Amino acid sequence: MRIESDLKLDFSDVLIRPKRSSLTSRKDVNLLRTFTFKHSRKVWHGIPIMAANMDTTGTFEMAKAFSKSRMLVALHKHYSEAEIVEFYERHDEEFLSHVFYSLGLVESDYKKLRAVKKAVGEKLWAICIDVANGYTEVFSSYVQKIRKEFPDLTIMAGNVVTGEMVEALVLAGADIVKVGIGPGSVCTTRKMTGVGYPQLSAIIECADAAHGLGALICSDGGLQVPGDVPKAFGGGADFVMSGSFFAAHDESGGDLLERDGKFYKLYYGMSSDTAMNKHSGGVADYRASEGKTVLVPYRGPVSDTIKEILGGLRSACTYAGAARLKDLSKCTTFIRVYRQLNNFYTGSEVKN
Ligand code: 5GP
Repeated sequence: MRIESDLKLDFSDVLIRPKRSSLTSRKDVNLLRTFTFKHSRKVWHGIPIMAANMDTTGTFEMAKAFSKSRMLVALHKHYSEAEIVEFYERHDEEFLSHVFYSLGLVESDYKKLRAVKKAVGEKLWAICIDVANGYTEVFSSYVQKIRKEFPDLTIMAGNVVTGEMVEALVLAGADIVKVGIGPGSVCTTRKMTGVGYPQLSAIIECADAAHGLGALICSDGGLQVPGDVPKAFGGGADFVMSGSFFAAHDESGGDLLERDGKFYKLYYGMSSDTAMNKHSGGVADYRASEGKTVLVPYRGPVSDTIKEILGGLRSACTYAGAARLKDLSKCTTFIRVYRQLNNFYTGSEVKN
C-alpha cells in the first residue's frame, strides 16, 4: 500500500484570479478553436463544448441544436444502425463536423461501427470509444485495432485520469483522451468502489501528458455551475463534456413527466438500473449499478442554457485577460479557496 499526499483539487477548491486586461467587452472574446488532430490529421473548427454520449443528452435533436452554436454532441450508442445511417445521410458536412459517433467495447458495437462506416463513408469522421474504466489492456488494444483499421477517423477514447494512461492511449491511436472517473452528477462509482480522482487535478495532469505528445483531452463530467467550464479550460482541457447541464431540455431524451402540476425529465447514469433495464435487460449478476436516476425540473429549449454557459465563459475570459479561449489556460492563475459560493439565498431564486 502507498499513500500519495500531493494536493489534488476539484473545481470547487479554486477560483480564477482576476487580472488587468485590455479587453473592452466580453463581446470581443473569441471562443472558437481550430484543432488539427494528431493521428487523423482532420481539422476541426468550433466551440469545444460537448454534450455527453448518454441517451438523455447525446440525441439527434441535441446535435441539431448544438451545431447552430458550433458546439459538439457525442451521440449515444443505443440508436440502431438504420437510425444512425439515416441521420448521417441526411446532413451536410458542416453539421456533421459537430457530431461524434459512440461505441463501447462489445463485439456488436464494433460490428455496428464497421457497418455504419461502410454505409456513410467519410461523413462519419469522429468517434468516441467509451468505457467506464480505460485502464485495461484490452481497451488499449481495441483503440489500436480501430486506429489501424480506420487511419482517417478522429478517435476520442477514455475514460482515464492519470498521465501515464493518457500517454498509452495516445500511443495506441487516440487523438483525444477523455478524462474523468467518478466526477459525474449521476455517477456512483466513487461511492460503490472508492475509486476516483479530483477532476481539476485530473485535467491539469492529463492535459500536460497529452499536449506533450501533440494530442488533446476532453474533460468529462462533474461541472456543477457554469463557472466550472472556464475552470476546466483554464486547467488545460481542450474540450469540455457535460451531461447534467444539458439534461431535461426539449432536445434531451425521455418523456416529459408531470408531478403535482410541475414538469420534469429523468436523467440517469448509463450504468444505472434505469439504463441497464432499458438497454441490457437488467443489471447482470456479477456487477452493481454505478449510476443513479434523478428527476430534473424541465428547462425548455437548450439554446437558453447554451447562452448562459457561453456568456459565463466569455466573461471569465475577460476577467482573466484572455482575448481568445485558446489563451485562457495560459492566462489562468487559480487560487485555492475553502468556500467559493455565497449560498445565503439558495432555493429562494425567482425565475423571470
Ligand atoms: P455530468 O455532466 O452529469 O456530471 O457527468 C456526465 C458524465 O458522467 C458522462 O459523460 C459519463 O462520463 C459519466 N457517466 C454517465 N453515466 C454514468 C454512470 O452510470 N456511472 C458512472 N460512473 N459515470 C457515468
